[in-house]
Amino acid sequence: MASHYQSPYLREDSSSPRILMKRLREIMAEDNSAQARLDEITRAIAFTMIADVCSIYLRRVDDRLELYATIGLNREAVHQTRLDWGEGLVGQVAKTGQPLNLDRAPEHSAFSFRAEVGEEDLQSFLGVPILRTGKVIGVLVIQNRQQRLYREEEVEAVQLVATILAEIVAGGDLLEEADKADLEQLLQKPEHFHGKPVVSGVVIGTAVHHQPPPPAHKIFADSVPHEMQRLEEGLASLQKNIDVLIAKNEQLSGVSREVLEVYRLFAYDKGWRKRLEEAVLSGLSAESSVEQVQNENRKKMRTVKDPYLRERIHDLDDLTRRLLRILTGQGNGDQLELPDEAVLLADSLGPAELLDLDREKLRALILAEGSDNSHIAIVARGLDLPMVVDLPDVVERVHDGDQIIVDGQSGEVHVRPPAETLAIYQSKREFFAQSQAELAAERALPSVSKDGVAISLHMNAGLLVDLPHLHSTGAEGIGLFRTELQFLIGNNLPTSAEQENIYRTALEQAQGKPIIFRTADLGSDKAADYMRLDRETNPAMGWRGVRMSIDREGLMRPQLRALLSAAGGKELNILLPMVTTAEEVLKAREIIDKEIERARRNDRLLPTKINVGVMIETPAAAWRIDDIARYADFLSIGGNDMAQFFFAADRESARLSNRYDSMHPAFLSFMKMVADKARYSGKSLGYCGEQAADPLMAMALIGIGIYRLSVPAPSIGPIKRVIRAMDVGHFRQWLEPKLALESRSLRPQMLTYALEQALPL
Ligand code: PEP
Ligand code: MG
Repeated sequence: MASHYQSPYLREDSSSPRILMKRLREIMAEDNSAQARLDEITRAIAFTMIADVCSIYLRRVDDRLELYATIGLNREAVHQTRLDWGEGLVGQVAKTGQPLNLDRAPEHSAFSFRAEVGEEDLQSFLGVPILRTGKVIGVLVIQNRQQRLYREEEVEAVQLVATILAEIVAGGDLLEEADKADLEQLLQKPEHFHGKPVVSGVVIGTAVHHQPPPPAHKIFADSVPHEMQRLEEGLASLQKNIDVLIAKNEQLSGVSREVLEVYRLFAYDKGWRKRLEEAVLSGLSAESSVEQVQNENRKKMRTVKDPYLRERIHDLDDLTRRLLRILTGQGNGDQLELPDEAVLLADSLGPAELLDLDREKLRALILAEGSDNSHIAIVARGLDLPMVVDLPDVVERVHDGDQIIVDGQSGEVHVRPPAETLAIYQSKREFFAQSQAELAAERALPSVSKDGVAISLHMNAGLLVDLPHLHSTGAEGIGLFRTELQFLIGNNLPTSAEQENIYRTALEQAQGKPIIFRTADLGSDKAADYMRLDRETNPAMGWRGVRMSIDREGLMRPQLRALLSAAGGKELNILLPMVTTAEEVLKAREIIDKEIERARRNDRLLPTKINVGVMIETPAAAWRIDDIARYADFLSIGGNDMAQFFFAADRESARLSNRYDSMHPAFLSFMKMVADKARYSGKSLGYCGEQAADPLMAMALIGIGIYRLSVPAPSIGPIKRVIRAMDVGHFRQWLEPKLALESRSLRPQMLTYALEQALPL
């Protein structure tokens, strides 16, 4: 029977959604009671969808789903039938937040028979959630006696109606006063989420989205021609903005140019315009039409696999937001105003975007995606910004201005917390501050193990704001200064003089403690728009780090000049990133020598000593570390990149972030080989990957013989405590056989060891 069925939505005139929107608008314009409107709406939906039944269930504050209106079911059941959350098919739709499309509903395991509603002879069932800011506030159901699956187009049409219904319900026009309060309470209910902790710290602050949603606006058009005119004007002004943007950035090439051109293509795209116009013709306001089309795009985005296309749909999303800002009179507002104690929410964020924000007000970061080795995580750690990732729901469900608690240690996030939760976190925050103070009090203690092994503890940095931590943590020096971060702030490449200023200030503030300046590790995700880098399919394995530096002396030489000058009369440590072969070191050294020669010719005060180190962060460099060591003064393992290449697992991938543990014997035994070879070469070897921030991993590295660690500032104190309590000799004996014999991550066993030895983790 199903195959003969012709979807009404697919009829030649394909005007049903438009007619339905028009009808909804009329219903809302009539001076009727809330109940009468709801009844009319169900009737209109059933009529358009040729359904035998249409019902609307709304969620009450006790999370039960109440039948609010129906056409086709027993009218007496309205406001009487209440389903528990998850009960029956309707409850399933609410619980999962997903549509449910069944041709034989009574046979479904979740089907629950309610005599009072009278659905005995109904076979097919389509339920879709009514979602408001990501939260299920009700369920819209259509049912038919016939056995058939609803077609995709029909499901989409009912979903479209449900989004409009959500707006109307939330707007309050469909509810009696008491129910409005109920809904408000539901939407304002405290919520609790659990994400992946990345940077620890407790923050109680105010939520703000990186891309704020547009303000409330009307849903239906009072006058279709007027809304059409607003849409046309909005589009014209959007096109003009993009044209101006392109004209202003005439000099751009590469990716940035391409992005802008794509924006222009979209802004003038006839298909997009047509879909927007159709939505307005169906009776929606210009803003709602834009949102409607955006929803459809997002839905498409979820099914697109090709990363390039996904990016493009993101672009269209951005363009949509711009259009909405124009329509709602928010202008082009590119600058984000942060509230005090801001907790920023974003789907994803690049290091440059983070550095653009007002750091005086920013307190914590929540991302829908992300992993703990990503560059954004590294920058957040450097800025001491508590951060939790992997929370897509929070980003969608939190409103700007909501009170929000972020616990960067456990990954807990509480939104609109009740007083008791607030009190718990206030004391946790105090406790955290107190333990930080205790750690600071231990900063002068030597970092020497119980059996007398001295471990050199340095900190990672990248901006001048990091420098005060050098003294507050008692770090021996800066083991990794990521100079490229400076290149990501601002709109231009910093001049040699600007760079010199920063390096000089850093050296002054270090007050004699050594700093290892890594030459700019640009490329991959560390690129600013102005650099006009070409798009690469695998940027992490692309033209980056020393590869770029030796190909572009114009980039490397001004930086070397700045470093040589800033360190005049002092010792200078330079570190080369992303080295793969010894030739690259030789080439980089040639460039360094050229700059030394130039400084000499110009009678500049030279550093007293120049040490050139090499990052060991590719398996090739690790394998031939003995060869590379001949041309290096010191070596430093970049564990973040090394692990990514060793496990062939993208360090930025949220999916893979928990999959391979750096404490797996495969990685640790490889690191031991590197450490042993480095020792024979006589060159000092350190480890500056973020994994060492974890005291257990720091222990493992010490166990395999790496005695110089560079970690984020907040980890110095906790690691030093463990070092002071451990017996390195005893631990090594315990660890070594396991490197060869075990097949799984050593983490659980190491945790047990640490507990048995009463190590303060
Ligand atoms: C690393 O790869 O471990 C490293 C320290 O460098 P970055 O994280 O900046 O790539
Ligand atoms: Mg690296």
